[in-house]
Amino acid sequence: MHRSRRTRIIATLGPTSSSFEMIKKLSDAGADVFRLNMSHGTHSDAANLYATVREVEKATGRPIGILADLQGPKLRVGVFKDEKIMLEKDQQFILDMDATPGTNKRVELPHPEIYQVVEPKTELLLNDGKIRLQIDKVEEQKIITTVLVGGELSNRKGVNVPSAILPLAALTEKDKKDLNFVLDLGVDWVALSFVQRPEDVIEAKEIIKGRASVMAKIEKPSAVHAIDEIIAVSDGVMVARGDLGVELPMELVPVKQKKIIRHARRAGIPSVVATQMLESMITAPVPTRAEVSDVANAVFDGADAIMLSAESAAGEYPEEAVAMMNKIASSIESEPSYRRMLGKDLATPEATTADAISAAAKQVADTIEAQAIVTYTGSGSTALRASRERPKTPLLVLTPNIGTARRLALVWGLNCVYSQDAVNFQDMIDKACNICHEYGYANINDRIVIMAGMPFGTPGKTNVLRISRVQDHHIKI
Ligand code: PEP
Repeated sequence: MHRSRRTRIIATLGPTSSSFEMIKKLSDAGADVFRLNMSHGTHSDAANLYATVREVEKATGRPIGILADLQGPKLRVGVFKDEKIMLEKDQQFILDMDATPGTNKRVELPHPEIYQVVEPKTELLLNDGKIRLQIDKVEEQKIITTVLVGGELSNRKGVNVPSAILPLAALTEKDKKDLNFVLDLGVDWVALSFVQRPEDVIEAKEIIKGRASVMAKIEKPSAVHAIDEIIAVSDGVMVARGDLGVELPMELVPVKQKKIIRHARRAGIPSVVATQMLESMITAPVPTRAEVSDVANAVFDGADAIMLSAESAAGEYPEEAVAMMNKIASSIESEPSYRRMLGKDLATPEATTADAISAAAKQVADTIEAQAIVTYTGSGSTALRASRERPKTPLLVLTPNIGTARRLALVWGLNCVYSQDAVNFQDMIDKACNICHEYGYANINDRIVIMAGMPFGTPGKTNVLRISRVQDHHIKI
């Protein structure tokens, strides 16, 4: 149960990781949260994966988070008569609203919104940015372009328009159906793709109504520009480097990654670094040295979680990939330089009781060398503030709400235990000491620091800081 690693690991599930045995192996190897990618598979696939993760959760006794990642308004070309074409530099190529299969002269682009906002000289990127078109002329249902960088283009490849804010709804019809389905399943987090503005998150939250936490995927330049406004309305953010690296010059992605993590940390919401972290492990049992450095740097940046995509969903070495992330994160976290890096970006506490108590708990725990900081939380908000302090002392979260425990599974350093609320002051101490001992955080005579709110069970009331020594009578036989 006791996981000393603070950085959390998210593993995407898919064809190679759908059985109970494999998901259990990934959980044992270190995965804290599992991601359902709604761009692939059917609702019945998602329901099976959901149920299997919950069985694994029961078997391990550790709350596991489940994140459903909605496809979002991804733009795509239509299909070609011969499935694919070759585009040559400097040739003319037309995108239009005609569903007739395409040729090397034209293809369908079935998104009327694009025609309204693009103008001559705008660049369109196709097939993960491998092909670049420059717009010469825009008509009502036709965009005439010149190929700047050519290449092969096949059916339904993606289209990116980095320089424009597109008048697209945050959720497509497919997203809305998927969203209702995953909310009924009971997922803990929903990730929104291609967020452009804070209103996109607000619109989704109006449908979600608190049934899941909402993560904004940052993959558009407009979202990077509005990062603080998006963070203010989101429960978490993901640095979605796949599309971000198409929409922005790739060399800017590392700087944006650091900025997004820094701003999320300041606000006290979790950040996730995603895509190509151990890409070569899709087909190889060991990563490249550069990939190890990439994972290590995300940990050094202070990210809450690091994510595997195809490595765990469709790769040949899913368990090894999780185990490798676990080893890298654990190794970095044991370095004194890691604490120095975390300390540099530490945000000052806000003028709230929860922040005052969180900052004090960290300091007291350091001074007396306490073995754990225990926080009682209902909604999870106090635990988030405690994590924001990035204490050296392990954080143990006691919550009577299993949904809270699962949602917090992707937050830096939070180890959640499902436990009934304390009924009085003595019970608060007894429960905390007993669970610290039971889960291996503290031995008899060790000291722990407890944060709680009185009256018990009242949200937003963290106002108690208590130092306790674990004693024989705390231990239930
Ligand atoms: C990404 O683009 O990096 C990402 C995480 O999104 P998806 O996997 O849905 O493309």
